[in-house]
Amino acid sequence: MEQTKRRIAILGSTGSIGTQTLNVISQHPDLFQVELLSAGSNAQLLIQQAKTYNPNAVVICNKDKYQEVKEALTPLDIKVFAGVESAGELAGASNIDMVVASMVGFSGLAPTIAAIKKGKAIALANKETLVAAGSIISKMSTEHNSPIIPVDSEHSAIFQCLQGEKAEIEKLLLTASGGPFFSLPIEKFNDITVEQALNHPNWKMGSKVTIDSATMMNKGLEIIEAAWLFNIPIDRVEVVIHPQSIIHSMVQFSDGSIKAQLGYPDMRVPIQYALSYPYRIKLDTPRLSFPDIEKLTFFAPDLTKYPCLAIAYEAFRKGGNIPCAVNAANEVAVAAFLNSEIKFVHIPQIIEKTIEKCNFVAAPSVEDIFATDKLSKAVAKEIVRQNL
Ligand code: MG
Repeated sequence: MEQTKRRIAILGSTGSIGTQTLNVISQHPDLFQVELLSAGSNAQLLIQQAKTYNPNAVVICNKDKYQEVKEALTPLDIKVFAGVESAGELAGASNIDMVVASMVGFSGLAPTIAAIKKGKAIALANKETLVAAGSIISKMSTEHNSPIIPVDSEHSAIFQCLQGEKAEIEKLLLTASGGPFFSLPIEKFNDITVEQALNHPNWKMGSKVTIDSATMMNKGLEIIEAAWLFNIPIDRVEVVIHPQSIIHSMVQFSDGSIKAQLGYPDMRVPIQYALSYPYRIKLDTPRLSFPDIEKLTFFAPDLTKYPCLAIAYEAFRKGGNIPCAVNAANEVAVAAFLNSEIKFVHIPQIIEKTIEKCNFVAAPSVEDIFATDKLSKAVAKEIVRQNL
């Protein structure tokens, strides 16, 4: 890599991607410097991270926790700010080369937009940003010369497969583990508990994305993310269930050749690739042993078991602000499920009922997207409250 250190801002530093990003950075202190850490409300972990990585500044988005963080870090000469607006503003500052956008859900959109407007390289882990505002983000990133490098493992795999290619993409093949309920018969879906849904077989992730994996809405959000990132029609983005999660996704080219990226499932690989791109640097992950794996298996997704996947395809085809409404309703439904307010099978029903009530905007502005998110969340909450 180049001689000067890359100066990194991490938005969402206390989450699953944020902590793994810091793990990667700690293995390469000669290549990366943490300049900014921003967290939602986990003040104690943010303080601890700041003490370890000595950033120039931190942001605690929950303003109630400001004093606690300020008292702990001011003596160490680390600047402390509060509120999500500060996160966006500081991520766009001149001391930052790359912004890791790893906040959870729609909350990641505003600070990511702020960083794009300043031309920062974005390591994008927050897929909801592209789902809710794909047309806006794509246009903005071109206008401001702000490259978006995917962190999501599937999109990183595709991005890696596309290096050096000038060929036409025929199809993107997004692999999916199938989540914890891949072999569970549909009749038993009615009794799925929160604990079961949080028990993902292959990937260790935050609770929102783990539930999304169990409903396969995660894959639904990812097909939309892929369509925007790689500028390809959604009908050429295919989902393949691959329970071992060894192949992280594939690209089929116009000559029928398929390229895949493989490895043991470890999010630090795509995180590190985004941080070091276009270079590849050492990482201490376990290496694959093909004789030990013996076989890799593949299945087509069952859309009756996973209606969220069908909802996502349909949302992208409808376009406009509909994917934003789907994402908003999904966030509310997942939170309600985690709170034991609704059943697992209610999640797609809440999303569908919310879309029915959404006012369609064909070419939404940033303001329209924020309004759609707010309104759709209120509608979805009302549906949850009325017990569907
Ligand atoms: Mg993924």
